[in-house]
Amino acid sequence: MAGSELTSLTLKSALEGLKSKKFSSTEITQAHVDAVAASKTLNAYVLETPERALQMAAAADARIARGEAGLLEGAPLGIKDLFCTEGYRTTAASKILGDFKPTYESTVTTHLWRDGAVMLGKLNLDEFAMGSTNETSAFGPVANPWRAEGSNQTLTPGGSSGGSAAAVAADLCLGATATDTGGSIRQPAAFTGTVGIKPTYGRCSRWGIVAFASSLDQAGPIAKTVEDAAILLRSMAGHDPKDSTSLPVGVPDFASFVGKSVKGLRIGVPKEYRVDGMPAEIEALWAKGIEWLKEAGCEIVDVSLPHTKYALPTYYIVAPAEASSNLARYDGMRYGLRAEGKTLTEVYENTRGQGFGDEVKRRIMIGAYVLSAGYYDAYYLKAQKVRRRIADDFKAAFEKCDALLTPATPSAAFALGVKDTMDPVQMYLNDVFTVTANLAGVPAMSVPAGLDKDGLPLGLQLIGRTLDEETLFSLGGALEKAADFRAKPKTWWKG
Ligand code: GLN
Repeated sequence: MAGSELTSLTLKSALEGLKSKKFSSTEITQAHVDAVAASKTLNAYVLETPERALQMAAAADARIARGEAGLLEGAPLGIKDLFCTEGYRTTAASKILGDFKPTYESTVTTHLWRDGAVMLGKLNLDEFAMGSTNETSAFGPVANPWRAEGSNQTLTPGGSSGGSAAAVAADLCLGATATDTGGSIRQPAAFTGTVGIKPTYGRCSRWGIVAFASSLDQAGPIAKTVEDAAILLRSMAGHDPKDSTSLPVGVPDFASFVGKSVKGLRIGVPKEYRVDGMPAEIEALWAKGIEWLKEAGCEIVDVSLPHTKYALPTYYIVAPAEASSNLARYDGMRYGLRAEGKTLTEVYENTRGQGFGDEVKRRIMIGAYVLSAGYYDAYYLKAQKVRRRIADDFKAAFEKCDALLTPATPSAAFALGVKDTMDPVQMYLNDVFTVTANLAGVPAMSVPAGLDKDGLPLGLQLIGRTLDEETLFSLGGALEKAADFRAKPKTWWKG
C-alpha cells in the first residue's frame, strides 16, 4: 500500500490490517514518519521521535508474528507534550521546562505502550494547556489543516490540544492523546473535523501529566472516528493508585457501544445554551443534530441548567487558582530553565519572568489574587459554591434525560493572530459550552457534524452522566452516521 493510503486509514482499519498482516507496523509507522517530516508547516509536532517509533514498530511486528498482539498493537500515535515520556523531552510548550527529560512515564502513555502502540513524537499545545488557539505555545502556533474555501489564510486548530487535533486531521498519526481542563479536547476536535472525548473526571489517571488545574484536568483521545476514540479511551483509562482522584472502577469495552441502537434514549436540550449572538449556522446545526437523534429513535426533552451563565466566571477563578499553586514548583531549581540572579529571590524572579509566557503569567496573577487573604471568600470560596450548583444542575437534568446535546463551540475555526488584538476575556468566551462539563466532572464528547458556509468543520457536543461514557459512544456513533461527515482538508502544507 502507498504511504498516503496507510496514513489515511482509521485506527480501527489499521489495527485490522496489522492483525491480518496486510501490512506491518514498520510500514505504517514509516509512512507516518514520512508524512510528519513532510508536514513541518503545520507545526503540529514539537518533537519527532522516528527512531523510537521504528524500534517500537519492530517490537510490535515481532509480537504480531508471535500472535501476542495487544489492543493497539503496532498503531502509531502522537502524544500531547503535556504527558511525561521517560527519556524524551517534555515541555508543556513552555520555555520554563527547557530541555526537561522525565525519568518516568505518565500512566496514560504507559497504558498505550503496554497495549502495543507506537510513539511518533510529542505534539504542540498552548503553554501549560492554557489557551484556545495554540498561540500561547513557546514553539509558536499550530496551523489548522483546514482553510476556508478559496482562502489562503491560516486558521487556528483551536487549543489547547491544537497539535493533537491538527495531527489527527492531517493524517500525521492514527490518533492522539489530549487533555481537557475547560474544553481543550472538544474545541480543537470541533475546529478540525475530528472526534474528541473528555471522559469522567477520574477515568484516566493524571499521574505524569503536567498539572494545570488538578480538579478539572482530564486526559482523553482525539481520533478520526467515534469508534477510534472508543478504542483509544479503553487503553488510556483505568484505576491508578498513583493518582488519588483516579476512580477505582473497571474499564468497559467502549467500542462495543458504538453502533448500538439509541432508541428510547432521552436527549436533553438545555435552553441556557442558546446564548446571545450565537451564529445562525451553529443554531441550525444544533437543530439538525436534534432531528438526527429523533430520527434514530431518541426522545427529545427540554431541560434547564440554570447556573450555566456563571460557569465561565467560575472556571476562570477555579482554574487559575489551582494553576497558580501547581506552577509554584517552577522555580529554577528543579526543572529546565534557570535564570541566574544575585539572590535566591532574584533567581526565582528571573526564572519565572523569563520562563513563563504572558497568558501563563496572567493566570498565575489571577490565581494568586483570588486566593489572597482578603479576597479568598469573595472569589475562590464563592466560585467553589457556584461550582457545586452547576454540578447539581446536571444531576437534576439527568433525572429527566440520559444525555445532553449542545453545540461544541460558538463558532468555526478563526484566523491565527486575532489573539493579539483580542481582549483576553473575549478569548475565554470560546469555552462557554465546554467548561460546564469540567466543573461538574461529567464526560463530554465532540463529534464532527457538518461544514459551515466556508467549508469549515463544526462539531456537536454530547454530555453524559458520571461514568456513562458508553451512552456517549452510542449517541456519538448515531450522530456520526447521520452526519456522514467525510470531508477532509485539502493538502496544502506538504513539502
Ligand atoms: N481554553 C481553556 C483555557 O484556556 C481550556 C484549556 C484546557 O482545557 N486545557 O483555560
